[in-house]
Amino acid sequence: MKDAVWKIAQEIKDEVIETRRNIHMYPELGYEEEKTSELVIKKLKELGIEVKTKVAKFGVVGLIRGTTGDGKTIGIRADMDALPLQEENEVPYKSKIDGVMHACGHDAHTTMLLGIAKILVKMKDKIKGNIKLFFQPAEEGLGGAKPMVQEGALEDPDVSAVIALHVDDETNVGHIKVKDGCFTASADKIWFDIEGKGGHAAAPHDTIDTIVVASNLVCALQTIASRNTDPVNPVVVTVGTFNAGTVYNVIPEKAHLTGTVRALKPEVREATYESIKRIADGVAKTFGAKITPGITRGYSPGLNDPELNKLIKEATIELVGEDKVLLADAPSMGAEDFYEFSDNYRIPVSMFWLGIRNEKKGIIHPGHSPKYDIDEDALPLGCSILALTALKYLSN
Ligand SMILES: [Zn+2]
Ligand SMILES: [Zn+2]
Repeated sequence: MKDAVWKIAQEIKDEVIETRRNIHMYPELGYEEEKTSELVIKKLKELGIEVKTKVAKFGVVGLIRGTTGDGKTIGIRADMDALPLQEENEVPYKSKIDGVMHACGHDAHTTMLLGIAKILVKMKDKIKGNIKLFFQPAEEGLGGAKPMVQEGALEDPDVSAVIALHVDDETNVGHIKVKDGCFTASADKIWFDIEGKGGHAAAPHDTIDTIVVASNLVCALQTIASRNTDPVNPVVVTVGTFNAGTVYNVIPEKAHLTGTVRALKPEVREATYESIKRIADGVAKTFGAKITPGITRGYSPGLNDPELNKLIKEATIELVGEDKVLLADAPSMGAEDFYEFSDNYRIPVSMFWLGIRNEKKGIIHPGHSPKYDIDEDALPLGCSILALTALKYLSN
């Protein structure tokens, strides 16, 4: 099976590169991926794939039904959105849209999933069960995955696992990096409304000083990571904005803080919220102020399923050899929308890093940088690994 996958991936390499450059030149921001999704739909239809459109605005779901009988359904996911950045690369395929750029490699993800569609359609007679292709909008902060799930992307037929890759600027081209368990962090927004009693700066005893209250709150929040949480389970509580007061000789009546919480484990994330509420309550009581804490939940912690990882590793070893599979030693405190496809940890999911770094070609810049680029030689490998992993999953 791996020879057939690899052969097709090599045959379509030029076409895949052309598609990637095309998408790269016309990047679109989250929930504005109209042209990208039109291109995806056109290419899937050309392959005779069943297509569901307008899932979470510009999301697309393709369905490849195998011809070898009933079986499970596995999903493969790519994201389509770009970033609000001005590209600084001087390349023939430089972004033609002012102030918008594919600087996270989502152009490559979308392209590879189209390549995978082509490979799998040619291998339909080897598919027992079905393969769903998820092209999701708005990964960069706006959260396009969850609404896709809410709109039924995982149903009809029911999906029992989802896999994906993200290109990685720290891993050399030709290699992948995998990690079982914790892989990416949650990313939630927190805020605090603090009410005290304003007054003259020279008469603090007649006031409840919200600057002092808020300062104590900021300090007390630091004890969540240092004193409340097992040190082997990372959590970050950062206060990013602190607003109070307008003039030097007045004690302000109100203060407002905003910040973010990052955690690698769902239970640590939940415990952190309990701590935040308790600390806010305690600080308020200590100073006689009123503190209202708030949380806006973002992406969930990303947990990779070890069984799926086993298949990803097996597929890569068969395709390019054992020395090309690296183990990521640490998770990332960044967040990934992909994990919403686990539907709250109901379905096993896994994502791995696909190396796109190539110092000889000057491809060394980090994601979200205006000089970001990828080594396109990585594309056939990314297509092959995901396609072969899906076939292996279904034949198990
Ligand atoms: Zn990104
Ligand atoms: Zn990304």
